[in-house]
Amino acid sequence: MKSIRLVEFGSSLQWEEKQDPEPKDSEVLLEVISCGVCHSDLHLRDGYYKIGGEEKLFVKDRGVKLPLTPGHEVVGKVLKVGSKVRSVSIGETKLVYPWIGCGTCEECESGNPQLCSAPKSLGIYQDGGYSDRILVPDRKWLLDIYNLSPEAACSYACAGLTAYGALKKALPLKKMDSLVIIGAGGLGMFASQLVPLLTDAKVIFLDIDGSRLEKLQELGFYTVLSSHPDPIGEVKNISGPLGVSAVIDFVNNSATSSLGFSLLKKNGTLIGVGLFGGELKIPTPILSLRSLTIRGSYTGSPGELKELLLLVSKNKIRLVPVEIRSFQEANSALNDLANGKILGRVVLSGK
Ligand code: NAD
Ligand code: ZN
Repeated sequence: MKSIRLVEFGSSLQWEEKQDPEPKDSEVLLEVISCGVCHSDLHLRDGYYKIGGEEKLFVKDRGVKLPLTPGHEVVGKVLKVGSKVRSVSIGETKLVYPWIGCGTCEECESGNPQLCSAPKSLGIYQDGGYSDRILVPDRKWLLDIYNLSPEAACSYACAGLTAYGALKKALPLKKMDSLVIIGAGGLGMFASQLVPLLTDAKVIFLDIDGSRLEKLQELGFYTVLSSHPDPIGEVKNISGPLGVSAVIDFVNNSATSSLGFSLLKKNGTLIGVGLFGGELKIPTPILSLRSLTIRGSYTGSPGELKELLLLVSKNKIRLVPVEIRSFQEANSALNDLANGKILGRVVLSGK
């Protein structure tokens, strides 16, 4: 197998070639067809998250070990299976659910392995899909992609699922309610695709990049440039003076989370998703007096991913812009993503 691996934090990924792994027991070996490039791969490459001021949360202290093959948005073709694997055939194309856990804790047993405290996520704690092969520990982590192409399907494992998980936490919303979504990158574009299937509330996108907002305006969304001198006033011109019912923050740095908090009307909810890093200072009496909720959201469960794939395959959806590149271009794709040059998602494809 040929993989492009993170060998040292802060450095470019490096090619490595070794023998294909032999799947044992419940394991399944897939040939990778496509793998999405997520902004989380950039945080992984950096080796830390910012947590306010100069402070950092190092991924190695959270159990990430190098060398590691990143890539957690993977569609592949089943090549070989272990002796205990049933109900999957060689040659079948499947989406990999990457947020796997220990399998025995309370969260894993309740169907939420993404919240396991001893996570074994593929592409983060175990080798992922920046490779021509991926070894998946169990057939149960493989899902159908229905009528979707591998390139369109792969990013539902993270960008789509994370957007869906966050949107569900903002619901229910009534038609007269407003929802703000901060960040119109990969996650934001998937959210824009899913929003019309989930709510008829007013949706206002914020980003620092005007060209992304133009794209969303063309699709009928309200937009506000977050660098506007008065973004709160601009949002309230759309939502009404009381503010908005929910904010989903796909950036979640000090500036955006504080802006999101200030936009909430009474009983509103701020949902932090992004890992750009920072800290949020809030006046505690405001939290109580305005009956506000601040919560986080991390990817989604296997059940939610299945639900999401059915939702997008059964409905008429507008495709998220996807730029297909070869695996050889993984480093430049990561650099372009870091420099804000990617609209929607880059997907590495073996075709
Ligand atoms: P992306 O690079 O595709 O998009 C980021 C977007 O944010 C861009 O449009 C950029 O212009 C915009 N942006 C950056 N700084 C901004 C600011 N100060 N104000 C407004 N907009 C700003 O990234 P992505 O793949 O969509 O991921 C977004 C974040 O979510 C990353 O930090 C990623 O690691 C994180 N993430 C979290 C989860 C989770 O489960 N919580 C899952 C996947 C990704
Ligand atoms: Zn991701």
